[in-house]
Amino acid sequence: MDKATGAIDVLVIGGSGAYHFPAEAFGVETRRLTVETPFGPSAPIRILECDDRAVGFLSRHGENSYSMTAPYVNYRANVYAAKALGVQQILSWSGPGAIHEAFHPGDLVVPDDLIDLTRQRPLTFFEGKGIGFIRQNPVFCPEIRQALQGAIGELNRPCHTRATYVCTEGPRLETPAEIRYMKQIGGDLVGMTLVPEAFLARELEICYAPLCYISNYAEGVRELPYEKGVLFEGTLPGHDRHRVDAALSAFPKIVRGTLRHLASLHRDCSCKDAMLRYRSRGDIGDDWRGWIG
Ligand SMILES: [Zn+2]
Repeated sequence: MDKATGAIDVLVIGGSGAYHFPAEAFGVETRRLTVETPFGPSAPIRILECDDRAVGFLSRHGENSYSMTAPYVNYRANVYAAKALGVQQILSWSGPGAIHEAFHPGDLVVPDDLIDLTRQRPLTFFEGKGIGFIRQNPVFCPEIRQALQGAIGELNRPCHTRATYVCTEGPRLETPAEIRYMKQIGGDLVGMTLVPEAFLARELEICYAPLCYISNYAEGVRELPYEKGVLFEGTLPGHDRHRVDAALSAFPKIVRGTLRHLASLHRDCSCKDAMLRYRSRGDIGDDWRGWIG
């Protein structure tokens, strides 16, 4: 953190399970704040001292429990809040289902591509404007991906580094036919959270990359009986639950390792210049707040 401005460079957005971790798992909490934005208040952001560095931590689905499903997360408020705090890099996590036959519950995945099948989420900061026509390749920040893979490698954990995440609207899970369709169009994972989060981050020139742990099999990928009254109703087989728990419990170490690796990189990626074309021709100024609304 910049002591004079209170700015932070990195925000960690915790997905499913984030509310189960004590803050101390990631660092010492020094402050907690909610940022007022043109899109309403952000989710609470904890400022943590983590290995002599201040980082933000936001739990996407709720502070103490899973209290907000993916379609109702205020992505614009959260990403706007990140930018307002000075964040340059967002590391997010989520727990999608496996479509690819080589992926199993508990596996770690650093996806490299994204298909948007959401239907009714606000997708941009630039409503009714002539800006925002932005290339999406690489889809995720290569530097954060490199840092993630470095951190996971240090823990000797296997990790899939090529995977396409399909983002659905939710909150319901998918039908078997929908999953067959997603497989045909190249999907390896299915979840509900990376859209529009990743795209909004790019609009504000923030680096963004996700870390995923497979939390279940997508519908129809395996013959699995319906189990009444349990999480995912049987698409996470009982004997795999410990693998999912083990993956999630490694996250504090992975996040801290990733932050260490990130500190040694120089942000030479293209993310920070996503809006350069518009700046260069005078469509927008240097103050990003003026780009919005
Ligand atoms: Zn980047």
